Parts: sequence; structure tokens; C-alpha cells
Amino acid sequence: MTATDTTSPAFVGGSKRHLMGGQWRASVSGLEFDTENPSTARAIARLARGGAADVDLAVKEARRAFEGEWSRWTPYQRQRLILHVHDQLEKHFDELALIETLDMGAPLAGTKGLKDRMSKTLLFYASQTNACTTETLSNSLPGTYMTLGHKAPIGVVGGIVPWNAPLIGQLWIIGAALATGCTVVLKPAEDASLSILRTAELLLEAGVPPGVINVVTGYGPEAGAALAEHRDVDRIAFTGSIETARQIVAASAVNVKRLQLELGGKSPDIVFADANLDLAVPGAAMGVYTNSGQVCVAGSRLFVQRAIQREFVDRLKEFSRSLRIGNGLDPQVQLGPLISQRQLDRVTKYVDLGNREGARLAVGGGRLGGDLAQGYFFEPTVFTDVRNDMTIAREEIFGPVISVIPFDDIDEVIRLANDTPYGLAGGVWTRSAATAHLVSRGIKAGTIWVNSYGLLDPAVGFGGCKMSGYGWKGGAEHIEGFLYRKVVYMNLTPD
Ligand code: ADP
Repeated sequence: MTATDTTSPAFVGGSKRHLMGGQWRASVSGLEFDTENPSTARAIARLARGGAADVDLAVKEARRAFEGEWSRWTPYQRQRLILHVHDQLEKHFDELALIETLDMGAPLAGTKGLKDRMSKTLLFYASQTNACTTETLSNSLPGTYMTLGHKAPIGVVGGIVPWNAPLIGQLWIIGAALATGCTVVLKPAEDASLSILRTAELLLEAGVPPGVINVVTGYGPEAGAALAEHRDVDRIAFTGSIETARQIVAASAVNVKRLQLELGGKSPDIVFADANLDLAVPGAAMGVYTNSGQVCVAGSRLFVQRAIQREFVDRLKEFSRSLRIGNGLDPQVQLGPLISQRQLDRVTKYVDLGNREGARLAVGGGRLGGDLAQGYFFEPTVFTDVRNDMTIAREEIFGPVISVIPFDDIDEVIRLANDTPYGLAGGVWTRSAATAHLVSRGIKAGTIWVNSYGLLDPAVGFGGCKMSGYGWKGGAEHIEGFLYRKVVYMNLTPD
């Protein structure tokens, strides 16, 4: 028996169904597919393979719920519901974290640490239930006219979620919908759906009314595409790749859906010679290696000022070699596997390209063997002598691969940092407030961290520019995306 067999929660295993209108239903087609544990490459459950017919049923349930009793819930009732959901997920968080680790490989030490993030995210949304407002607007009309401004829930939201952090990723959509009175059809990623399905069970138990949150599992080009092109979905919240985003943008044209797109990045992380290297080396390294590099904000272009290049790279190599990699169930493990064979092939392809284009492989560069050979484990990898025009510095790898690029001065590094089609995030490591200010102002990206990397607060929010997408996630602006505006001109003297 493996560790997986002995520690699996009862939820993992068997066949899972879609959630529609509070009922668990098999696919109309009857089809299923396997989902596997990337640490062992063994199937751990079967998922319903949803298609257009299933999405249509789920959207109908979401619409029915949106227009029914749920539309009469008061902000206080919705706030209380989110707090119930919070308590329910907190109570079951260890189980949810274990499911996440078994399903997508992230080390349990890290997934358990997400409890605080989960809690803050839901508490933030619980504080936002008064966002549907009615206010009197000033106007320049004759005095008998009153103008009112309303903000009302937009309707049915399709949430297309990626596999790299489904447990937390779904909460931005669920939280905003519960806060505003919208309803949701979630489409988890085919590689990691289980934590979302278990969360859905817990939401029902916490009192979320049937049809408010629905889940359709399946493949992107089938269930995902059907959701993106459904005429009765008002908005899509998508996190994933730029290639898929292009298809969603095109599909959304059918009814001109509103979109929120959080896409990839090739974020610059910049280390100046005056930085505190005790902080900068592990900080910049984990800015890429966290979740085995499968993080959209990964600071994968690591710009290091030439004066400290040698010392920095030596310390980065040492740090990279010191990381404990393995099955995430082991509490000592810091890095888990990549999600799938497809992802392993993709990372391997980029490492080959790096070698061929003339970058120097300083550490790592291959799949791990021995006890880890059956899973999709990849070594923490550092390339030096990278030029910003090489493929490994231009395309998102989504793996534990750092490209170290040397630079001399501020102007040069700002120019190089911005020489990318993406604009998601960036980092600066320096003791100089002036340098930090100049560089963070100069970089075109949605989030900049100074002397830290990867911190996220749901109340502050998060988003990108350029090809990293649009629409803010978290913060008041996120809530606005779940609402539409209406003005009313009222003639108060109809006689
Ligand atoms: P990756 O390539 O890293 O898996 P994707 O962008 O393909 O990233 O996946 C993110 C989410 O988008 C997943 O839930 C996936 O199923 C979904 N998806 C993939 N293709 C499509 C599509 N054509 N339309 C809608 N959703 C899709």
C-alpha cells in the first residue's frame, strides 16, 4: 500500500458527477474520464465528462436560481451565508487540503497553509454584500426630475478555473457571486477537479441554495467551450492560458459576454547590487519554484545586476539544490510534481530550447528518477547567460525554471523588463527607496512586489495588463464586475 492509499479521504475515489440545481447528475452522454495523482501517475477517481448538453442544463438551473428566491435575499442574509460557508470550509479544511495535494500534487505543508488565505478571501467577500446599491444622482434636468443609480447583480457567471490552485481559485468566483446575488456554473480543469467538487458538497451543507453554485466537470474544448459560447451566460471569469483566452474571447462574441481574464506572465524579478541577498535569494527563487513553477505570477525572468552576478548565482544554485522534492503527502517536502505528462513534456521542451539557444544550464534541467520516477517530478532549474530575446525568456514555461539575465543600470533593466508581451507582475530587491520607486513605477504590470514576492491580499486585489488579461480579481473592483449599472429618470410630476 502506498501513502496515498492509506491517507486518502473517503471523498477521493469512485465516480463523481456534475452538480446542477442542487442535484448530482451523470453526464447526458454517460461518459467519464480518469483523474490522476501526479505524484504517482495513478488514477484516483473518475469524473463526469460534461458537454454542451450538461452545460446547458447547469446554466438553466443557474438562471432559474438567479431569478427565483435567491434574488430576494437581503445583503445581511447573503453575508450570513458567506460566514456559514467560511466556517464550513474552515472546519473541513484539512480534508480539502489533502484532496488538493492528492489531485494536483502541491505539498501538503503548502496546501494546509492556504487555510488563512481561504479564510481571508471569504471574510473579504462577506464584507462586500452591500455592493448592490441605489443612490440619488445629481443631474442638470428640470427640478421635477429625480435620477437614481442602481447597481444590480449581472446574472449567471461562468467560472473557468485552472488546475494550478483550484481550491483557492474557485473562491474568488464563489465569494463574489454570493456577495452580489449572482449565480455560477463552475468548470474546473480536467486535471484537478476534486477539491472543487468537495467544496460544492460543503457549500450545499452550509446552506447555499440549489442552483446558486453549479459545477460541470469535463475537458476544456468540450465543457469549457460550451460555457464560453452559451447565450445565457452573462459573464465569464477565466484564469488560464493565452491560447485558451483567445478562444474564449471569440466564443463570448455570441452574446457579447463580459469577461475577466487572468492569463499568463513572464514576470521580471529584479535584484540590485545593494539588495539584502539573504532575503533576495530565497525570495526570488521561491518566486518561481512555488507550486513547482506552476504559478501565473512566477518571476521567471530574474534580472541580476552584473556586480553581484557570480555571488547571486552561486547562492541560487545552492538554494535550488537544497529543496526537498517529492510526494506532497510527506510533510518535509517543499516541491511536488508537475501536474501531468503534458506539462512535463512542455517544461522539458523549453529546457531543450534553452540549451539550444545558448543559455547556460547552471543547475537542474531534468526529470527526477529513482523513487520519484513514476510521478511528473522536475528538478529546480537555473539557466544563466540568458538574453531577453531567447524563447525561455519570452514564453511562459509554467515549470520550476529560472532564467537569470544580467543587467547594468536602472534604465536598461526597465526597458528589458517591459520588453515582453505580458504585464502580470514584477519584483524589485533593493535597499534604496528611490530605486524601488523608480523601477516599480517604470514596469508595466498589474502587481509589483518590493523586497518580497507573491504576497496577495483579497481586499487589495490582483490583475494584469497587456497580454496578461483584464478585469481585476479581488478588491472592490472585482465586485463591480459582477454588477451592472442602471439609471432611472423619474418624472415626479406626471400630471
Ligand atoms: P493549460 O493549457 O495550462 O491547461 P488552459 O488555459 O488550457 O491551461 O486551462 C484553463 C482552463 O480552461 C481549464 O479549466 C480548461 O479546461 C479550460 N479550457 C481549455 N480549453 C478551453 C476552451 N476552448 N474553452 C473554454 N475553456 C477551455
